[in-house]
Amino acid sequence: MRYIIGSDKYHVAGNWNDIWKAQAPYKARHLLWRLCRGCLPTRYRLLERRVECTLNCLVCDEEIEDELHIFFRCAVARDSWCAAGLASVLHNAVYQQSNAMNRIFAICSNESSDTVGRVTMLLWWEKPPIGWIKCNVDAAFVSGSGKTSVGLCFCDNNGQFMADMAQ
Ligand SMILES: [Zn+2]
Repeated sequence: MRYIIGSDKYHVAGNWNDIWKAQAPYKARHLLWRLCRGCLPTRYRLLERRVECTLNCLVCDEEIEDELHIFFRCAVARDSWCAAGLASVLHNAVYQQSNAMNRIFAICSNESSDTVGRVTMLLWWEKPPIGWIKCNVDAAFVSGSGKTSVGLCFCDNNGQFMADMAQ
């Protein structure tokens, strides 16, 4: 198997195990993996696969919409990193690689699994559709203690905080 995987024409070198160490739900880590594998349908990737569309970012209409732009360079993306308290990671000189995959590998190998988890959740986050309210929930069960905790956070379709609860 190792020989087949290593000789696969689609094999991409990189520290893939680090992605799965992020303190984030599987679905968020899976997004990180898809991002690094070039599987996300950015306009750049769609044109590569001969889908007819324009190349520019839908949000800013100023640059080519590729992974690096969407998640790191677009003004809206940069604002999100800052709002999440991750500006120091975004602007760190060590993480200025020219493609998103190498940036993510560098962040995963240098930052704590907690910080990588926060970055992963930031990249994964999406606001709810118009007319919907999103509720993010997390729960913890402490084995043997009889203790359970839960936290909920509601936001509207503009991504604005509405209410929260913790018990
Ligand atoms: Zn943009």
